[in-house]
Amino acid sequence: MQSYFVMQGRTYHEEKELGILWSLQQDSAGNTQHFWERMKEIDEGDRIFHYVKGQVVAISVAKTSYKEERKPYTIDLPGSEDEKGYLIETEYHELEKPLTIDDFFDEILPLLPIKYSPFQENGNGNQGYLYPCNEELTIKLVELIGDLNIYEIDEEQLEFVMGTVRRTEHDFLTPILAETEAEAKTKVRLGRQRFRNELLPLWNGKCALCDIELTELLQASYAKPWKDSTKSERVDPNNGILLCRNHDALYSNGLIAFDGQGKIHISSRIPGEDYEKVGLHGKMRVNRTVGNKPFLKWHKRWVFRG
Ligand SMILES: [Zn+2]
Repeated sequence: MQSYFVMQGRTYHEEKELGILWSLQQDSAGNTQHFWERMKEIDEGDRIFHYVKGQVVAISVAKTSYKEERKPYTIDLPGSEDEKGYLIETEYHELEKPLTIDDFFDEILPLLPIKYSPFQENGNGNQGYLYPCNEELTIKLVELIGDLNIYEIDEEQLEFVMGTVRRTEHDFLTPILAETEAEAKTKVRLGRQRFRNELLPLWNGKCALCDIELTELLQASYAKPWKDSTKSERVDPNNGILLCRNHDALYSNGLIAFDGQGKIHISSRIPGEDYEKVGLHGKMRVNRTVGNKPFLKWHKRWVFRG
């Protein structure tokens, strides 16, 4: 199961009525776009978060993979003279209480990938159609949607007269959210476990910076984080360093980085007089391999807060 984010705007109602997603294949100049091509990745059972004007208004479960079909409704889309497109059938479940992205953007922002994010850094939705939604973002969205739509509504229902049955969309929503969350969590847990098992022997079971050997304190720290990595990069032992919890927190929050030679760079947010307190000094380095190099450099470029 994969999750996706679809930015629907004014096509939402037509697509919901028809129980579909539809995108162009190319614009009038013949250019393809990643957010249209991505329609070809959807499989039966995949989850889709539907975004309209600042809110997630529905979640759906794909019933089919894509087929090629002309535009099935009459709204004019820019640059769509050639209306050949991709169509997916999907089962919509509208949220009784939509999720306003702005209200939770500080929780969502750290989970957005650098490439192909559905949102800009100011919280506005991007212009494209279909975006990937990584497992960490999926878990967060499901939690937020659940808080709004299941727990709050259950409390309201307590006030109903005994025996009153109120069947609403939320009876369908509950199992979908639970299943989506469980699957995404399992995927993250198993992926991280495998990654750690492979990293431990490569780094001789010690923190690469301070030599701590207590397994309870050792973390397999990603250079290119889960949200930004491909499926294979998430379990590629080259994409990580074994670090103690302290050094892992510094590394994954971009307060330290390593260059292609393995030499440490320390963020200016940590004043020199604090280096000792946080277990750092300017001459530290990690014993990187050739395979580590591109990942360390990626981290230094995108995660490090210089
Ligand atoms: Zn350490």
